Amino acid sequence: MVVADRVSKSFGSNEVLKSISLEVKRGEVMCLVGPSGSGKSTFLRCINHLEVVSSGRLSVDGELIGYRETNDKLYEMHPREAARQRRDIGMVFQRFNLFPHMTALENVMEAPIRVKGLSKAGVEANARALLARVGLAERADYYPAHLSGGQQQRVAIARALAMEPKLMLFDEPTSALDPELVGEVLDVMQGLARDGMTMIVVTHEMGFAREVADSLVFMDGGVVVESGVPTEVLANPQHHRTQAFLSKVL
Ligand code: ATP
Ligand code: MG
Repeated sequence: MVVADRVSKSFGSNEVLKSISLEVKRGEVMCLVGPSGSGKSTFLRCINHLEVVSSGRLSVDGELIGYRETNDKLYEMHPREAARQRRDIGMVFQRFNLFPHMTALENVMEAPIRVKGLSKAGVEANARALLARVGLAERADYYPAHLSGGQQQRVAIARALAMEPKLMLFDEPTSALDPELVGEVLDVMQGLARDGMTMIVVTHEMGFAREVADSLVFMDGGVVVESGVPTEVLANPQHHRTQAFLSKVL
């Protein structure tokens, strides 16, 4: 579903991603971990084309992201085309950034109405079903300010799902939450994984990585230092940088 082939990304002279190659198969969950500044968020942003890769190839569901290929040459895509690609990729951030002036239900209905041009009546039932799926059927008419952080993050997940993405990207979805609210969000993500969603999750929640992820990738300094089956990487990290990192988060 996601194939990165020697993906590099620079900001000016700062090479933040250095030849990243990895693959996430359909229905699999990959957890991405690594120290601050290692390039995790940049990599996610490249996947949904919030950043354009500097070299290498990144494709989602067989389609090159951000570029068109003609006669073996790559041409950067028109922003409109990139926006079309981005619709199929859901993203959930550390900060929930819900629209504060809209209820939970309106937040979930917003993108299908605005982006897909569907009618309110046409999207409401599905939006309610999505809120139920994240355990918030009873909170549909609440404004974000009246929801807990965990509830807001679950609305954010429902909102991303409303676009029927083929892939979900999570960038530290629980790091801004009070500890007692982390579990309810991870449970929703685990449910998604069980339902077969392809997901890439940047997280420091190693319990989630161990139980839910099919692969664990450790990044440092813009390179993939180590990757593998989570239980194996966690139990027996090969690289000293992985060991040092894990000793801090485990
Ligand atoms: P954290 O765990 O703190 O979220 P991260 O692994 O997500 O870190 P990134 O946010 O991807 O790291 O940042 C990697 C590097 O890229 C950092 O050195 C950062 O300063 C740099 N960087 C990120 N975005 C930009 C940008 N838009 N312009 C310039 N430099 C950037
Ligand atoms: Mg980050």
